[in-house]
Amino acid sequence: MGAEGVPGEDRRLKDKLRELARGWGADLFGVADLSPAIEYIEEIYGDELAHLPRAVVMAVFYPVAVVNQLREGPTHTYLHYYKVLNTRLDDMALRVANYLQDEGYEAFPIPASQRVTEDKLAGIFSHRLAASLAGLGWIGKNCALINPRVGPRLRLVTVLTDALLPADQPVKDRCGRCTACMEACPAGAIKGVAFKAEDPLEARLTARDCDAYLAKVRVAFGKRVCGRCLAACPWGQKPKK
Ligand code: SF4
Ligand code: SF4
Repeated sequence: MGAEGVPGEDRRLKDKLRELARGWGADLFGVADLSPAIEYIEEIYGDELAHLPRAVVMAVFYPVAVVNQLREGPTHTYLHYYKVLNTRLDDMALRVANYLQDEGYEAFPIPASQRVTEDKLAGIFSHRLAASLAGLGWIGKNCALINPRVGPRLRLVTVLTDALLPADQPVKDRCGRCTACMEACPAGAIKGVAFKAEDPLEARLTARDCDAYLAKVRVAFGKRVCGRCLAACPWGQKPKK
């Protein structure tokens, strides 16, 4: 029996994890109930992870000005902080996973950024899906997680667990009629279609066009980096308190 609330859920453990995560550098912390996504998780990732019903999701914000520079093209500063943020996120995820493990639970930290094949950037689990279910934001027309404070100027990490932590509530999509990311995309890869859980990714994004553009950038700039669809998002474009 948990500390309070829904039987089996442990609010005290969630509060403790949130406090620790904040101390370790998390700007956002939430818990997702993965049950609405279980079929999707099984289909995409197999049943290896599908028995873990909760995800702890944490975010670290990019400095807004660093992402906004991408409106003019790729920058080494963005790439530098991409690595800095991922290192911090992986460290936080490891600490959360080991804390849960010490409490007697199963916990699986998903790397912040991981290639599962040579040619694909997709990780082994969608942090965005977990973050949207945890109420940290909504999935925008640019396929990124959009947080009301910083828009898509953040990075995410996830720890899957069987600890029955009380789940947060998803928030509503607030893209509305905006199509700024679609207009900013130099590859024409973004279709301007709102996220729907039942739609495949291709309904919103022609991934091969994005990929082909990034390959061109690698030739010119040395690295695959674009992010114009992030910099264009009006949510969080000006830092807010
Ligand atoms: S990263 Fe660049 S090419 Fe890819 S979808 Fe975003 S704006 Fe378009
Ligand atoms: S730029 Fe506009 S449409 Fe695109 S994700 Fe941001 S709010 Fe949504």
